[in-house]
Amino acid sequence: MDSHGRVIRDLRISITDRCNFRCVYCMEPDVRFAAREALLTTAEIVRVARIAESLGVRKIRLTGGEPTLHPDLTGIIAGIRAATSVEIAMITNASLLTRRSLGEWKNTGLGRVTISIDSLREDRFARMTRSTSSPGDVLAGMEAAIAEGLTPCKLNAVLIRGFNDDEAADLAGLARTYGVEVRFIEYMPLDSGHTWDASKWVSAAETRSAVEARFPLVACGDDEASSTSRNFAFADGAPGRVGFIAPVSSPFCGACSRLRLTADGKVRPCLFSTTEWDLRAMLRDGASDERLEAFLIDATWTKQPGHGIASPEFRQPERPMSAIGG
Ligand code: SAM
Ligand code: SF4
Repeated sequence: MDSHGRVIRDLRISITDRCNFRCVYCMEPDVRFAAREALLTTAEIVRVARIAESLGVRKIRLTGGEPTLHPDLTGIIAGIRAATSVEIAMITNASLLTRRSLGEWKNTGLGRVTISIDSLREDRFARMTRSTSSPGDVLAGMEAAIAEGLTPCKLNAVLIRGFNDDEAADLAGLARTYGVEVRFIEYMPLDSGHTWDASKWVSAAETRSAVEARFPLVACGDDEASSTSRNFAFADGAPGRVGFIAPVSSPFCGACSRLRLTADGKVRPCLFSTTEWDLRAMLRDGASDERLEAFLIDATWTKQPGHGIASPEFRQPERPMSAIGG
């Protein structure tokens, strides 16, 4: 529990800061990655997962960077599954998913995946992700994940004005076609280029209006208290749901249940933390489980009440999203 009475149930572990995409809102093309020896090993990640569960964590989300680039992703999933009974989820850009790898991860203990997709138009997708993948690759990855039972599968999209802000309804249409949940996340000042500015930001309210102009929505009213997303069903009864995650226009910090571990072993109580807790040094210094527990409890206690993006004193953290783990 933190000093504001929030109970921490979700641990997001970035297993790598590397990525094969360079999304405009996340990573600059010339981003520099951490040295390999700086990254936590599989054994270190599994140990932290075990200790976190003993302190009350119930869900672990593997993220990055792009987690599917990790050479030992299967070992990490298997290790966490053997050491804990937490729910294991993963967020991925889906460019490298195959039925075979998904089946292996599922058999090893992965429960579900969330997939990011920001455009359905090939040229735009290329411009936004600065990758050689296509929307078709991502949708094929999503279909493979569903076929392997990694469900419920969710899709995440970030709208940036001037890039893809006219695609809200098209992206929401994916929910209807595939019976999945499509969630729109407001663009946050966490890009490695520090180029975020309000003129590129699209509010959840504007996104919802754009979706509703084509597909009227009804509130589901079943959002969990700690959920980041406000969820809606289609008024015409079509399958799938649409969610709006509004960290900038309506922060949900009061109900936050998350703690983050960066790929290089720093604990960040908040996405926007400016202070990090160096767990890797302790792991490599022979600390006992009890000392690691105390360290995690202390770090959690410092979780700030809110991110304060709207405040004039707000300063973007040095670490971009890709190095924190979104
Ligand atoms: N590479 C994986 C992916 O893209 O799904 C996992 C890591 S990525 C950092 C996790 C999520 O963070 C993605 O859904 C991405 O869209 C989101 N994200 C990255 N930068 C963001 C930003 N500046 N504002 C809002 N969401 C962001
Ligand atoms: Fe890579 Fe995900 Fe960041 Fe895009 S959002 S650059 S896929 S880590």
